[in-house]
Amino acid sequence: MYNYTKQYINGEWVDSTGDETIDVYNPATEEKIGMVASGTKEDVDRAVKAARDAFPSFSKTSKQERIQLLERIVEEYEKRKDDFIKVITEELGSPVTFTEETQYQMGLNHFKATAKVLRNFDFYEERENSYIQKEAVGVAGLITPWNFPTNQVATKLAGALAAGSTVVLKPAGMTPFAAIIIAEVLEKADVPKGVFNLVNGTGSTVGDAISSHPDIDLVSFTGSGGVGTKIMENAAQDIKKIALELGGKSPIVVLDDASVETAARTALENIASNTGQVCTAGTRIFLPKDVHDPFVEMVKKLESDYPIGDPTDKDTFMGPQVSEDQWQTVQDYIQKGIDDGAELIIGGTGKPDGLDTGHYSKLTMFTNVDHDSTIAQEEIFGPVMTIFTYDTLEEAIELANTTIFGLAGYVVGEDPETLTKVAKSIRAGRVTINDGESDFTAPFGGYKQSGIGREWGDYGIEEFLESKSIFGMPK
Ligand code: NAP
Ligand code: MG
Repeated sequence: MYNYTKQYINGEWVDSTGDETIDVYNPATEEKIGMVASGTKEDVDRAVKAARDAFPSFSKTSKQERIQLLERIVEEYEKRKDDFIKVITEELGSPVTFTEETQYQMGLNHFKATAKVLRNFDFYEERENSYIQKEAVGVAGLITPWNFPTNQVATKLAGALAAGSTVVLKPAGMTPFAAIIIAEVLEKADVPKGVFNLVNGTGSTVGDAISSHPDIDLVSFTGSGGVGTKIMENAAQDIKKIALELGGKSPIVVLDDASVETAARTALENIASNTGQVCTAGTRIFLPKDVHDPFVEMVKKLESDYPIGDPTDKDTFMGPQVSEDQWQTVQDYIQKGIDDGAELIIGGTGKPDGLDTGHYSKLTMFTNVDHDSTIAQEEIFGPVMTIFTYDTLEEAIELANTTIFGLAGYVVGEDPETLTKVAKSIRAGRVTINDGESDFTAPFGGYKQSGIGREWGDYGIEEFLESKSIFGMPK
């Protein structure tokens, strides 16, 4: 049992001012694995005060000191590898191989990449007639979701610390233990007291207190659009800065010269990875008309390469949804697709055979889908793909961009000119051509309703800075 009912405030593990707790469950076994404090508005006040008091000195530390701080965090983070893998596998139900290769690694990569870009980051610039100074924004409130418990905390923390801002973090109540280990890592890395504060609790109490706190200068949030709107409304009251990473409904455009196997694997991987609980997941696939039938055959043939089940089994590709609620949401969308007349080619409602315990969904793909329908337009956050066909590439690009979202996009094919053209035409913050590898120093964020602002690398540092112009600066 993980029993972590203390908050980390001003460099100490302290009792919450309230006595409520949040139970945490393993979504694969449905058993309780521990609990955390359900923090109060007073806890947030104390944490904000600590962050405010720490700001004057931390914001004046040298770039070199902050690079060293990030490097110490990297060192301490690596020492906790086994703990991170165990905890994320348990609290999220993330398959252990994916947890090690992606979940654990992404968090680490953000601290490393930010330390690297910070070396070449300029906090001032001299122009012909001005001196431009970049300064830490102040106290930042960080609110994170459950789907990548170390990634989302790490990208925000690395950017804030590199900029010289101090923080109050509220991680998701369903996956709080990875964030507790991060707090322990920061403590071991000698992050000065008050610079980093952790307040566990619910979104409606602790998250709301953060986004409405008069002494917080910026709120950086990752999660759903609905909560993003609430955070904007709260932040609007005192013109707080905001950074929002919201959802997506990203397209995969398959060119006519693509290998059918590559297209099918790209589709299956996009919906099966992290059980479809990925904001950048490609969930609408656009195929040339004559590729449709061979693609469907290939998907049926390859489906068994993506085994669903016990997250502690090294061969498992897809685990359960994070919670019963999330599972029910996915079920409702699948039923809605069926009711709206779409045709299932794999999967459907219910649990996969033999997986009665745990919030498991089936890998599900629909064809003959109306592009205006609910399952083609709303983010499902589960392993569900909608298939469309096209006659001309222009038509494919137009449909790919017919969405309120703009987080990511994917292009699969051979011809370099066409791949480039499609990649440049997708209205989204991040496009991957074939198996192009991600870069942790490149910006991450969304167009349209997918968000406001950018994270990762130097763009992630910029998020936590203000720019000041000085004229007549003595030389
Ligand atoms: P969510 O409700 O937006 O939660 C994200 C974070 O915001 C959690 O820490 C949550 O706290 C907190 N929160 C909830 N209500 C709040 C409020 N009124 N004020 C301030 N903070 C608040 O997301 P979710 O319920 O975990 O997932 C639902 C949907 O969000 C998914 O289906 C997906 O569409 C989207 N999502 C997107 C991403 C992404 O990376 N873009 C990630 C996860 C989810 P508690 O949950 O602890 O109460
Ligand atoms: Mg929620």
